[in-house]
Amino acid sequence: MSKVVKFGGSSLADAKQFKKVADIIKADEERCYVIPSAPGKRFGDDTKVTDMLYHCYDEVAGGADFAKSFAPVRERFNGIISELGIDLSLEDEFVKIGRNFASCAGRDYAASRGEYLNGIILAKYLGFTFVDAAKGIFFDNKGNFDGDITNACLGAILDRTPRAVIPGFYGAMPDGSIKTFSRGGSDFTGSVVAKAVKASLYENWTDVSGFLVADPRIVANPEVISVITYSELRELSYMGAGVLHEDSIFPVRSANIPINIKNTNSPQDAGTLIVPTGTEPASKYLITGIAGKKEFSVISIEKDRMNSHKGFMRRLLQVLENHGIFPEHMPTGIDTVSVVVNSHELEHQSEKLTERLVEVVKPDHFEIIDGLALIAVVGRGMRSAKGTATRVFAALSHADINIRMIDQGSSELNIIVGINEKDFEKAIKVIYDMFILSEQAEK
Ligand code: ASP
Repeated sequence: MSKVVKFGGSSLADAKQFKKVADIIKADEERCYVIPSAPGKRFGDDTKVTDMLYHCYDEVAGGADFAKSFAPVRERFNGIISELGIDLSLEDEFVKIGRNFASCAGRDYAASRGEYLNGIILAKYLGFTFVDAAKGIFFDNKGNFDGDITNACLGAILDRTPRAVIPGFYGAMPDGSIKTFSRGGSDFTGSVVAKAVKASLYENWTDVSGFLVADPRIVANPEVISVITYSELRELSYMGAGVLHEDSIFPVRSANIPINIKNTNSPQDAGTLIVPTGTEPASKYLITGIAGKKEFSVISIEKDRMNSHKGFMRRLLQVLENHGIFPEHMPTGIDTVSVVVNSHELEHQSEKLTERLVEVVKPDHFEIIDGLALIAVVGRGMRSAKGTATRVFAALSHADINIRMIDQGSSELNIIVGINEKDFEKAIKVIYDMFILSEQAEK
């Protein structure tokens, strides 16, 4: 059984971090496949190598000299090599990169070199084989990730490579050119590799000891979530709680492989384990996490005998779709419907949208209300427990917070409330106190 281990940019920012990474890998024989990010920030206002490469690309595209623009990147990698004391020169690679810049290999190619070069260094330092992601991770002609071909090719390559470093963040187009995933995409590479080698576990090493029950900028010292299901994580990440790249759960989820979020700077911490539904232990608290976002608007529509107007909802949704607006929630009454949408989707088109909606759905009353925040209270524990909603509402009402919308997902995994933006932080605090602090006190 093998484990796939992905290390983020802060875990590989300098030689000191490389040493921690090597100790972690050597401590467990099963850690066979390693996915590095490019070196990240070493201190607060440092620049990530990926950002240096984008900058370098833009400068060279604007006519600057490659050698001069690339010099800070070259220095950064050479610094790591000399501090690690390994017998490796990347000079030939730097020359090749300069040549490819000149032949217009593109912005994605430029950005991907951070992971590529870091992968070569890490492979040498560990004594593992370097496998270029362009040889096994593929996109189709439209630029979409091609999971089937990737799984087959990468699986075959890694089958005959017992220990390998595969750089994160990029793959190849059918014509061989390099394409990257969106920012933070090395998480996705790790997940793809874990699926291809049928790993027993995908460890994602970062600089925090797992997911927190609530945002630490709002709640002081929140608890770490020890186990979360993929479905719960989807709900929380959609609402803004983010440590992992959004897409990265899909490959491992389809193969039933758990993910463990771990901290390179504190490897003894258990971190957060993300598991498929059905294999999870009972949760420690009634809820697993709280997340939320501001800047939502409500399109509120009233129409007498709305439910007797056939096709009313379809017409309403069609108008929204034509304006590129995605409804987040749609609570309905007998003669009313509210559509909750992201405020930025209404930008510069509120008036046009209003005109069109009035024309097509002919409401008796119509209004767009801004300044809504949504909070999701998520937990598999609430499925079998009574009174979760009551406690959410009681916490908010005691804090004098008015609830403007309520939505419970059909899977009974979440309760979503809409409140005024000004109450956002207070609401998260009181819900945390109600479920976590009070349950801690009872234990
Ligand atoms: N280095 C890339 C970025 O900064 C990819 C990653 O770190 O996952 O977005």
